[in-house]
Amino acid sequence: MIKYDPKSLKAEEFINDSEINETLKYADENKDNFELIDSIIEKAKLRKGLDHREASVLLACEDEGKLKEIYALAEQIKKDFYGDRIVMFAPLYLSNYCVNGCVYCPYHAQNKHICRKKLTQEEVKAEVIALQDMGHKRLAIEAGEDPVNNPIEYILECIDTIYSIKHKNGAIRRVNVNIAATTVENYRKLHDAGIGTYILFQETYHKKSYEQLHPTGPKHNYDYHTEAMDRAMEGGIDDVGLGVLFGLELYRYELAGLLMHAEHLEAVHGVGPHTISVPRIKRADDIDPDTFDNGIDDETFAKIIAIIRIAVPYTGMIISTREGKSVREKALRLGISQISGGSRTSVGGYVEPEDEDESSAQFDVSDQRTLDEVVKWLMELGYIPSFCTACYREGRTGDRFMSLCKSGQIQNCCHPNALMTLQEYLMDYASPETREIGEKMIARELLNIPKEKVRKIAAEYIEEIKNDGKRDFRF
Ligand code: SF4
Ligand code: SF4
Repeated sequence: MIKYDPKSLKAEEFINDSEINETLKYADENKDNFELIDSIIEKAKLRKGLDHREASVLLACEDEGKLKEIYALAEQIKKDFYGDRIVMFAPLYLSNYCVNGCVYCPYHAQNKHICRKKLTQEEVKAEVIALQDMGHKRLAIEAGEDPVNNPIEYILECIDTIYSIKHKNGAIRRVNVNIAATTVENYRKLHDAGIGTYILFQETYHKKSYEQLHPTGPKHNYDYHTEAMDRAMEGGIDDVGLGVLFGLELYRYELAGLLMHAEHLEAVHGVGPHTISVPRIKRADDIDPDTFDNGIDDETFAKIIAIIRIAVPYTGMIISTREGKSVREKALRLGISQISGGSRTSVGGYVEPEDEDESSAQFDVSDQRTLDEVVKWLMELGYIPSFCTACYREGRTGDRFMSLCKSGQIQNCCHPNALMTLQEYLMDYASPETREIGEKMIARELLNIPKEKVRKIAAEYIEEIKNDGKRDFRF
């Protein structure tokens, strides 16, 4: 039997199948053990997180009263760490050429009828201008794995192009990267290109299922994929983003695996994941989500989000436009700190939205609203949409970032930065109604900056954004 060791660099030792199975058994045995559950909830209230066993017990618990307590705590922790701020981003699909055979993704190599596209640098420029004109400042670039069509040099060239475009008052200030697992050397190149977070979804932590779901291509190699974050960190990337595709395997197995991965990163590199994404499998070109029998309903999805929130309070959580408005609304309350808005999941989709029959999209978007509609909706719900990208530009990454988070000091930056970047958005891109709501929100929220000096400076900067056309202030 392979031994569990969170400090090991071998995939099967730090994501250990026997440890997960024992964890699930322990969780089942204790799902009605209210004394234990209360002690876990009390521990979570200390805001130092939970381990995979503790979180799994809460996930197995079905008692309504306890679940209410868990949800209330998740909401409180969300408020304490993230206030009412929601960071905005958009995905940018560069290429859907892919040599892998992932059975849940329409970009799989066997799909011969999907329209394959790869953006030229001119097309990247046009997409980025369209994104800047919407008001986006933070992108997540996406590309299939294809050493011939999408080599690392292509990705680096695109990153360079994206950062170089200054159109009107627009600028992309942070590029997060979601590309296939690669070598330390390539991660170093991405780091040197100034990327924000490197995001790689594990898809599933269950090795056997993983191999069946990825029957062909380099992604078939579970160990290489699972050990990617360690190589990324070795290559100098401080901020990494985890995620599983819920619906592929049993969600309880996935949650335990996900938290073990976070514990492993903390144990080896001294810093846990920067973000966790929670995608659910969705309909797409030749993909029918009903063929995957581990789908989770909205209630279970909400429970998972709440438990991740209390298990890793310092880790940002991301939800995409795969989810519709009502699911997103609940998820925001329970723990999500970043959402995409106005997204197109096809290659070149921001310049030319596609017809359904010639789609190059990776999945169907459930939330079809424009960024302005999403921004307005968030403010009506009482959230402050933030276009902040300050941390990585100020060198606040990795353990430096985490220690500021853990001491709560980061809040002194996040709140004024949210207000200043929202003011930029209102001046440059918002509709009149959105602007009206936003101006009132900023005036109100400025008063909530606790430190007088910071409040005064933020108010001055906001006036300069409004009246002098200045941009890009940050704490
Ligand atoms: S999930 Fe990624 S690697 Fe798999 S087929 Fe889709 S684009 Fe390719
Ligand atoms: S200050 Fe840092 S942590 Fe806060 S919103 Fe901006 S980038 Fe994120």
